[in-house]
Amino acid sequence: MRGLVLLAALVAAAAGTETFVGHQVLRIIPTSDEELQKVQELQDLEELQLDFWLAPRGLGHPVDVRVPFPSLQPLKAHLEANGVSYSIMIEDVQELLDQEQMEMLRGRRQMPVTTNTFNYASYHTLDEIYTFMDLLVAENPNLVSKLEIGRSTENRPLYVLKFSKGGTNRPAVWIDTGIHSREWVTQASGVWFAKQIVLDHENDEGLASVLDKMDIFLEIVTNPDGFAFTQTQNRMWRKTRSKQSGSVCIGVDPNRNWDAGFGGPGASGNPCSETYHGPYANSEPEVKAIVDFVKNHGNIKAFVSIHSYSQLLLYPYGYTRTPVPDQKELHEVSAKAVAALSSLYGTNYKYGSIITTIYQASGGTIDWTYNQGIKYSFTFELRDTGRYGFLLPAKQIVPTAQETWLALKVIMLHARDHLN
Ligand SMILES: [Zn+2]
Repeated sequence: MRGLVLLAALVAAAAGTETFVGHQVLRIIPTSDEELQKVQELQDLEELQLDFWLAPRGLGHPVDVRVPFPSLQPLKAHLEANGVSYSIMIEDVQELLDQEQMEMLRGRRQMPVTTNTFNYASYHTLDEIYTFMDLLVAENPNLVSKLEIGRSTENRPLYVLKFSKGGTNRPAVWIDTGIHSREWVTQASGVWFAKQIVLDHENDEGLASVLDKMDIFLEIVTNPDGFAFTQTQNRMWRKTRSKQSGSVCIGVDPNRNWDAGFGGPGASGNPCSETYHGPYANSEPEVKAIVDFVKNHGNIKAFVSIHSYSQLLLYPYGYTRTPVPDQKELHEVSAKAVAALSSLYGTNYKYGSIITTIYQASGGTIDWTYNQGIKYSFTFELRDTGRYGFLLPAKQIVPTAQETWLALKVIMLHARDHLN
């Protein structure tokens, strides 16, 4: 086994890919204010190179942190000295990455010539997803079209699939996946949603009734530079890939870069942080493209931005404790959506506003869209609750997408029924 792991590490190193041999993901559940304080202080210890998969939220909420091999002993000693208990969620991150790579190679048949033979139960490269989109458009020219809404920092096209039965500037639903590039189950779910819309657009009464009145826009790879980077360089990359003047660190957190409480608490001014908000609001072309699209369209009624992991359905706000005026309605829609989601496989979701359910976060996507007048603004955090975290095995892609789709349909139907 050790030989195999070493071989995998060598192959990865030869390919210029960052390896995670011996990295562990630890889970800490703070049970006192002192423990919470200790865990929060860890975020400032840059020399340990910790990667917070789940940042501290409060007492009783798990904190998941990826610890590089050289930092393991010092960190564990530090925690033990301070009486903070922890458990090991992932023994060796690289072992999971090796499995993921093998599954991807196995799942990659000859690229299909139709979307019916596409392997939805596998993770795919950026090019494979682009090919999928083109096939879907070619097969369904009367329903699906592909828009380019801008270019990324590295000049990749920002593609959006449009599903429309006709009409001009109809009220619309927006769905995006993959704005955080390492959350691979989200882009994979986006692919599945796209196919499902095509399969169901006439047969499924609910979806058909949505499409009778509304268009659906779906951006599957919302952060293509980051996504490409997760596949060629560093599987754990979250941010965009823009250069930051005066810093060696790269990238901005595209879920802290929106013009809603920009730069406030719950975002970092440090370009090396995973939650760096960027030099100014909308500095990231991936964010600016959506901002321009939403403003130009002017008739988007529901906006859903999809992340992983934690199994949460969230609504605004994140940047302020002031409840949104539509709190009651959004809470009720969330309850219905989560009930529908859980009905399929029993997956347990929590729901509520961002600030009350996770933590204060400023400059987030759906706070901005809500303030633009898009009442039905939601964020999902898909599977799981931490067993695999961002490294969810491919065999969970389809079940995750299927259950999420049920919740999405609740939101879309509700929006359709409240077009005012
Ligand atoms: Zn995310």
